[in-house]
Amino acid sequence: MKTYADYAATTPLSERVFDTLCRTSREVFGNPSSAHSFGRDAADVVSRAREQTAALLGCDPDEIVFTSGGTEADNHALRCAAGMPVLTSAIEHPAVLNAARAMASRVYFAEPDSGGCVSAEEIAHILRGAPEIAMVSLMYANNETGVIQPVREAADAAHAAGALFHCDAVQGTGHVMPDVRTLDCDLLSVSGHKFHAPKGIGALYVNRRTAGRVPPFHYGGGQEHGLRSGTLPVPLIAAFGEACAEALERRDDDDRRIRCLRDRMADELLTIPGSRRIGQGRTMPGILNIAFEGTYGENLMLLCDLRGVSLSTGSACHAGDDTPSHVLTAMRVPEEYRTSSVRISIGRYTTDEEAERITETLRDCVMLARG
Ligand code: PLP
Repeated sequence: MKTYADYAATTPLSERVFDTLCRTSREVFGNPSSAHSFGRDAADVVSRAREQTAALLGCDPDEIVFTSGGTEADNHALRCAAGMPVLTSAIEHPAVLNAARAMASRVYFAEPDSGGCVSAEEIAHILRGAPEIAMVSLMYANNETGVIQPVREAADAAHAAGALFHCDAVQGTGHVMPDVRTLDCDLLSVSGHKFHAPKGIGALYVNRRTAGRVPPFHYGGGQEHGLRSGTLPVPLIAAFGEACAEALERRDDDDRRIRCLRDRMADELLTIPGSRRIGQGRTMPGILNIAFEGTYGENLMLLCDLRGVSLSTGSACHAGDDTPSHVLTAMRVPEEYRTSSVRISIGRYTTDEEAERITETLRDCVMLARG
């Protein structure tokens, strides 16, 4: 029996989303740009999905640009400040870090504290010293630790300094997260496969007052308000919209249940001598990063996998890469914990029995790894 404990890497499709994907793939094949009825049917499907997405994020439908996922949305957000100085945090996903390094004229980094939280005061302090910074980019929740960042406060600091504010909300969307107006973002990135939609679809929220400052993603027929030309993937967009609608309906209950399971797992695992939780303060409900002195995270992951439990060390983007996590390094996690940490991430379909199996398997593997 296999147990999945890597929801922060990706999530399974929900039944509802799968049905929407199949039905629209079969029945709605028109090009939404066509003026005939097949085209209009497809355009209606896209328009409904745009409304569902806007309802989840708390914005207007015309502030949504569909993308191929989080990486594209992040890259495009950073492109708005190409050739200019950018301020971000040292714990961002590589989609932001590498885009900033490639496109900005200079990158300033705000460091996290030892609990994994970046300080909005530090962001304001850096902005005061470098008023030429054109954009601040801060993630909503970190993908390795689950720690929620002070996004609204950072947005206020950015705006007070006349900079644009982007939030990578790939790990927050679909869960209980303030809407984009409350967060006061100019740009916000979302990825479908993190909340039960298919891979290959996401969105960039572009605040109406910011739209004029966003260059086209690419040139062509002018789809997506002229920002992202190309024929729209109607079934993926429909499935994404359905995932948004389902998340909006379920997220309060889901998050409450998932957090309860996660806390129970944490309590049990932290009774293991030499264990340490990584990431403190407000965290995403399903993410638990925990280290076990005297082990290697990579070994634990492989041992658990052999016993049918799939969890991760750091983020999936680092799989097969044995350089230490840049997030844990920035948090100054001591070496013995940095190399021995695993990320357990559970979600909507994790059952009580599975949570127990994950805990028990990990406990056995820690003992085995320590010899
Ligand atoms: N940003 C964060 C915080 C993520 O966790 C991820 C994926 O792991 C991404 C961006 C990239 O999203 P995608 O896989 O949709 O390209």
